[in-house]
Amino acid sequence: MTVTENSPLHSVQHATQLIHSVRIPPETEWVPWTAAIGRVLAQPIRADRDFPPFDRVAMDGVALQHSRWVAGQRVFPVQGSQAAGQPRGTLASPEACLEVMTGAPLPRGCDCVIPVELLAREGGGVRLSEDAAPVPMRHVHLQASDRKQGDCLLNAGTRLRSPEIAVAVTVGLARIPVIQRPRITVLATGDELVPVENTPLPHQIRQSNGPALVAALQRAGHDVLPLCHVPDDAIALDLALERALGESRVVVLSGGVSMGRHDLVPEALARHGVRAVFHKVSQRPGKPLWFGRDESGHTVFALPGNPVSTAVCLHRYVLPWLEHCLTGIAPEPQRLRLAEDVSFQAPLSFFLPVKLDADSEGRALARPVPTAGSGDFARLCASDGFVELPRGPRLHPAGESVPWWPWI
Ligand code: AMP
Ligand code: MG
Repeated sequence: MTVTENSPLHSVQHATQLIHSVRIPPETEWVPWTAAIGRVLAQPIRADRDFPPFDRVAMDGVALQHSRWVAGQRVFPVQGSQAAGQPRGTLASPEACLEVMTGAPLPRGCDCVIPVELLAREGGGVRLSEDAAPVPMRHVHLQASDRKQGDCLLNAGTRLRSPEIAVAVTVGLARIPVIQRPRITVLATGDELVPVENTPLPHQIRQSNGPALVAALQRAGHDVLPLCHVPDDAIALDLALERALGESRVVVLSGGVSMGRHDLVPEALARHGVRAVFHKVSQRPGKPLWFGRDESGHTVFALPGNPVSTAVCLHRYVLPWLEHCLTGIAPEPQRLRLAEDVSFQAPLSFFLPVKLDADSEGRALARPVPTAGSGDFARLCASDGFVELPRGPRLHPAGESVPWWPWI
């Protein structure tokens, strides 16, 4: 594919820098563990006890004194049993043994566990197989051998997956301190748009950007208010913005930021005190991208309405910025090798939809999925994300390593 155009604008790198220099001051909230998956930890978590908290039997079998095996004893009367959940018992006589279960504390007086597979019942006791070859403290998970009391188990900024939830609850956190998520409003602008429930007239379309934005933000774990649709009308836009800025810290708009007479969004934002940090980026698709802030700490992304542009700008700018705000770390894209040559002749960065593929040795490749332009969003379903090709004009040879951004 080959494209030609001239355009000197904000570079993608500079736009990225400007966006990521804006941060939302992190605040902590405590949420029940049932609601904590996917959230970002606000404070470090330390071990409240040793891990494990006692010498823990790790096999079902019997516990006894190793010195008795060394002395030649092979048959041991069973004194009783020590199950998981029972307080630690004591071996009454060095010649005896205690039946033990996985998870039980190792009884006092015992330093050796013989697995049940190496035992035979004999009268009221057990006979140890000659193959048992017991070793002191084998099959015992020693107290504090994993972590010591007070050790840091998780750092602030950690994204909570199921292993992290397990660690949090094991130290007693029924509620977990997480970074508060900014509330987000999505406003989709356009007179031509009707909601999904309506049958569009011949000159109308059902709006798809709003639902796509809300769905992606929700999937990424963000706090999104119900979608709003606003016609291309200054008063309606003013009312919607007033409400959005009152209810949320972050506003994501779609449409109305290009050069048309009905592209009213930048002016409306200015009327509400939201100043442009930049407008327009040397990229395709998504050139009219608008980004701004107000004095009260609202952040506004106004994305171009063409559906491919909206999707690309969300994944390239909005989602990484939100991730940065929550975790304190700007996510770095992974890289993929191009599966084929790509020629792009415009002086713009180029976001090219790709499908994941693999070479004959199983190494990941990005196979271009060209669209018929930034309105062709149906083609995106054949792709897994997009690669970011640096400002053209240039030929990107097959095998070139390029950043890639997966669709959420
Ligand atoms: P705009 O950025 O408002 O000039 O819109 C550019 C193109 O994207 C137009 O063809 C719009 O009809 C289309 N568009 C804008 N918003 C949406 C939306 N929410 N869903 C689908 N298409 C849209
Ligand atoms: Mg429009």
